[in-house]
Amino acid sequence: MNIFKRASLIKQLQENSNWDVIVIGGGATGLGVALDSTTRGYKTLLLEQVDFAKGTSSRSTKLVHGGVRYLAQGNIDLVKEALYERGLLLKNASHLVKDQSFIIPNYNWWDNFFYTIGLKVYDFLAGKLSFGKSTRINKDETTSRLETLKSETLKGGVVYHDGQFDDARLAVNIAQTCIEKGATVLNHCKVKELLKNQEGIVNGVIAEDTETNISYTLKAKVIINATGVFTDEILQMDNTNAKNIVRPSQGVHLVLDQSFLPGNDAIMIPKTSDGRVLFLVPWHNKVIVGTTDTLLDSHSLEPKPLEKEIDFILETANRYLNKKVNREDVLSVFAGLRPLAAPKDDSEKTKEISRSHKIIVSNSKLLTITGGKWTTYRRMAQDTINKAIIIGKLPKKEVKQNIYPSMETSKMLIDLIIYIFMEVTRRQLNN
Ligand SMILES: Cc1cc2nc3c(=O)[nH]c(=O)nc-3n(C[C@H](O)[C@H](O)[C@H](O)COP(=O)(O)OP(=O)(O)OC[C@H]3O[C@@H](n4cnc5c(N)ncnc54)[C@H](O)[C@@H]3O)c2cc1C
Repeated sequence: MNIFKRASLIKQLQENSNWDVIVIGGGATGLGVALDSTTRGYKTLLLEQVDFAKGTSSRSTKLVHGGVRYLAQGNIDLVKEALYERGLLLKNASHLVKDQSFIIPNYNWWDNFFYTIGLKVYDFLAGKLSFGKSTRINKDETTSRLETLKSETLKGGVVYHDGQFDDARLAVNIAQTCIEKGATVLNHCKVKELLKNQEGIVNGVIAEDTETNISYTLKAKVIINATGVFTDEILQMDNTNAKNIVRPSQGVHLVLDQSFLPGNDAIMIPKTSDGRVLFLVPWHNKVIVGTTDTLLDSHSLEPKPLEKEIDFILETANRYLNKKVNREDVLSVFAGLRPLAAPKDDSEKTKEISRSHKIIVSNSKLLTITGGKWTTYRRMAQDTINKAIIIGKLPKKEVKQNIYPSMETSKMLIDLIIYIFMEVTRRQLNN
């Protein structure tokens, strides 16, 4: 029987009621956890309520990146971790990840100097897993590479390299690899309830196959909640009084015709009018422009872009492009929800909320993995399964995935460069 057929996967569900690991959620995070788990030899089941990557994981900016913005915020550990994972992704999924050059256009000499130094630090942090050296380019080269860029007061640009990937296809490929490695990975199967033993420890789920409405009672040593912006729904199945730990932050992208950015280079605008980052990136003979970061009070499977978000992207693009983008030039719009850690203080702004991942162990020993980003899905998965081992839910087994030697760098030198860069950044931000 074809191992990828639904009938075969459902049969595995019917024949096995005891698993080592049940993962709830089939986005980047859950699929990564299932892959780590099954390749270490644990009997693994993943349940996704709709389709793989139906949620945030197919609605990203499609960048495999260290996060230049996080560098400017001084979050060096996060950037280093993401740059390392970026390098692994290029090696492990080279059919879906490619090098993409970005140009930061600079309109004053200080910015030109500042971004050149900052991106040298970025290159340095990537070490042997670098995607290519960043370089400063003059005004003529900038305008010849970016034909549609406004050039009146332009001073020059800085080119740097990051990755671009196909998020939805990578998710499907990870699901396929999970199955090849022995896991059972099912879409259209929604977790409706958590089961507990007499001591109140979570030991299973009730899940419904939404194609047939048949429910299954499934037991496991450990249950992992990897449901992105739906995290709190699962936590409230565990404890009806559980406080919300996730706050959705919406990000919108517009898709435009290629004529708005005809070359091969992407544009990175490091500081929009509200202090965020905006990308214009070539994508399948079109251009993706985004994104926004709007805190919402509720989440849904089909988030709707707000008019003000579309206006903001159009306004910002028009500040930089000499070919005017109008509302009718927008070919399509997509919105995704970031599962950010809920701010403790209402006044906290989304750009200041930590983007690193968190693993939470509930009193019932339910494991919840939240936050992070697509680029770091492998590391998030590894940390989650390690946590299950540490708390005694799984017998110890080592990671089986391809890991490359860590970046060899001189710590003292890095610290010195970072110190200088941070001082310069602080002065720049205070201006
Ligand atoms: C606008 C935007 C741009 C981004 N751009 C980038 C980028 O360029 N690069 C990058 O690295 N990261 C990016 N990110 C971050 C990245 O996309 C997310 O961190 C990642 O996709 C989150 O994956 P996830 O699996 O945690 O969540 P999701 O993809 O939302 O997956 C959660 C899944 O759980 C399922 N689920 C929920 N409840 C149940 C249930 N009861 N039973 C079964 N299944 C359930 C849902 O259906 C869903 O499929 C971006 C995020 C946004 C919002």
